[in-house]
Amino acid sequence: MADKLKETMPSNDVNGTPKPSSPNADTAEQITMLWEYSPAPESSEHISISDKYHHFIGGEWVHPEKGRYMTTINPATENKLAEFAEGTSEDVKRAVKVARKAYEKSWSNLSGKERGKYIFRLARMIQEKARELAIIESMDGGKPIRESRDVDVPLAAAHFFYYAGWADKLGYAFPGRKADPLGVCGQIIPWNFPLLMLAWKIAPALATGNTVVLKPAETTPLTALKFAEICMDAGLPDGVVNIVTGAGQTGAAIVNHPDVDKIAFTGSTEIGKIIQKSIAGTGKKFTLELGGKGPLIIFEDAPIDQAVEGIINAIFFNQGHVCCAGSRLLVQEGISEKLIKKLKDRMETLIIGDPLDKNTDIGAINSRSQYERIMKYLETGKNEGAEMYQTSGSLPENGYFCRPTLFTGVSQSNRIVQEEIFGPVLTIQTFRTPDEAIEKANNTPYGLASGIWTDKGSKIFKTGQKIRSGVMWANTYNKFDPTAPFGGYKESGLGREGGLHGLYPYVNLTPV
Ligand code: ADP
Repeated sequence: MADKLKETMPSNDVNGTPKPSSPNADTAEQITMLWEYSPAPESSEHISISDKYHHFIGGEWVHPEKGRYMTTINPATENKLAEFAEGTSEDVKRAVKVARKAYEKSWSNLSGKERGKYIFRLARMIQEKARELAIIESMDGGKPIRESRDVDVPLAAAHFFYYAGWADKLGYAFPGRKADPLGVCGQIIPWNFPLLMLAWKIAPALATGNTVVLKPAETTPLTALKFAEICMDAGLPDGVVNIVTGAGQTGAAIVNHPDVDKIAFTGSTEIGKIIQKSIAGTGKKFTLELGGKGPLIIFEDAPIDQAVEGIINAIFFNQGHVCCAGSRLLVQEGISEKLIKKLKDRMETLIIGDPLDKNTDIGAINSRSQYERIMKYLETGKNEGAEMYQTSGSLPENGYFCRPTLFTGVSQSNRIVQEEIFGPVLTIQTFRTPDEAIEKANNTPYGLASGIWTDKGSKIFKTGQKIRSGVMWANTYNKFDPTAPFGGYKESGLGREGGLHGLYPYVNLTPV
């Protein structure tokens, strides 16, 4: 792969047609000459993936009612990994019934201390199986092993540890109030952080005494199914965690089931709106964590190299498959040329390819449909009159890969500035004053995350207070911790997950 990556010029555009050499060709060539990485693939020999997975209901594997199965592939090779059950509303009914029984007969009657013991055990077992989970996450989802090994899996374990700690301390979490569980929680998660999103949802639900029916995304079901094995090995009482697999219809069956008390959804704004409509008036509690179009504001006094690293981290690592990705760069006019040049040089050094290779910075796009969606946006950007810049290295022959992409010459009303692309695509705008930056930053339907780079703490606070986003990072980006709440404004969602805030959606509070 290193050799392949050195074949930098002439390069191909996204459609495979040769494109003229980048204006940066010399610099780019010099940079790629500086490093040569030998392949360092993580071995997948010691992991175990079954050929076929059924639903995990009531502590055992249950065949799907209609006997239908779907297929999950490795997006870096397009090879089949496994089949998994396609859930019908009957399957969902069965899972909810079992979850209700487990809620009434066992889980809600356990003391917080006992619940905590189980959740600590789940956390430790995720740690024990960390290597296997990380490899499977990268194979099923396309993300670089460095990301799944160093971010997804450790953070998933950390969320279980954190909420295990709350299980017997709810009285301290809500002083003067009694916290009762809700019952059965329906949880629907996306494909960008499969195990981590599972942890965000299951850990607080169990800590507060609820049982769950969770559906992973149809392109990344495997780590949730491995987690089902962990639940069995941990001796978790049957029916406390149920995993039903399938696509949108299975998710809708969970949302519309009358005996589900709470819906926790992470995914697109489009589906979030459908879900919100269908549960309106039912009395179900819900949290929605939806799309984003995060602004990255770089002031003239920012440490430029640090800002460049922050931008790379905000949009290109993990292929831009992050709802809180920083996908709009707002740079103060005086430094824009310098910053863009440095950014392009740094982009040229990014290694795109085999997700299992430890050198890889940018892995595979999660699925063919997501790849096609990104390609459409690249066309849209060009048709809107923006100037597109892509890095020049070659891409693997198979699988879904996209070069890191910049768009300059964009205006605020362009679709590529307003809509979530969910790929390694960054738009660049400039600003003169902090007020202009704030106005541009806030001018999309979203409000999930943002970043500010400046030398002045006062500027961070002054600007930050006026940005409508649930999370704001200063001089860094994409830093997560289980103790910190996460969630959005406007079309980015409702409610918070993580931290103490993440307990609220799972309890009914009454004065003591
Ligand atoms: P993305 O665009 O990130 O793929 P989606 O919102 O399409 O996000 O999917 C996120 C999750 O929601 C997936 O698990 C998917 O199967 C599920 N889903 C899709 N449509 C529906 C629906 N109508 N009701 C409930 N869940 C759905």
